[in-house]
Amino acid sequence: MPKALQRLSEKLNRLPGIGKRTAERLSMALLDWPEEQLVALGEDLQKLRRQIRPCNCCGNYSEQELCPICSSANRQQNLICVVENASQIAVIEGSNAYRGMYHVLGGKLSPLNGKGPADLRIRELRERLQNSLITELIIATSPDLEGEATAHFLAEEFRGMPILISRIASGIPAGADLSYADAATLNLALNGRRKLNEFP
Ligand SMILES: [Zn+2]
Repeated sequence: MPKALQRLSEKLNRLPGIGKRTAERLSMALLDWPEEQLVALGEDLQKLRRQIRPCNCCGNYSEQELCPICSSANRQQNLICVVENASQIAVIEGSNAYRGMYHVLGGKLSPLNGKGPADLRIRELRERLQNSLITELIIATSPDLEGEATAHFLAEEFRGMPILISRIASGIPAGADLSYADAATLNLALNGRRKLNEFP
């Protein structure tokens, strides 16, 4: 394989879900694209870092200070769904199961990987809970050990606040990553959420 194709394949191979063979097929498929589309793709890639940054409020991917969800007037402003990373927002949005707000934690508690509460956006979440009229916090961390531990940590952390804290149901298979759940599963998980605290 020519060096240029090989270099591109190696990069595509680093993407989630793209194996070595798929990466090679994608590289060769790109060879068939017209020149101007390849240039446009290159420009899009260059803009990724420069134009997309975390939303100042929720941490979602955004081109503005506030992401389209935080700046929308058509969302349920009293609900916050806590997710591990911004890509999970896109998954939940795709399911059409939820119309509230979000908060990106930036991971989950993971003592083995040296990730503690101070490494997550918990302080920012507390500020939002204190400064706005939130009635329910839905914790949608992954249903694995670390995701569960994170959910319970948050429930404990915000105990005493006048907020219902709930956890998405286990419609998502234990140990699975929320990012790969389909719309029907996410609907079940969100609608079947259970309370983590005794409020109200
Ligand atoms: Zn936002």
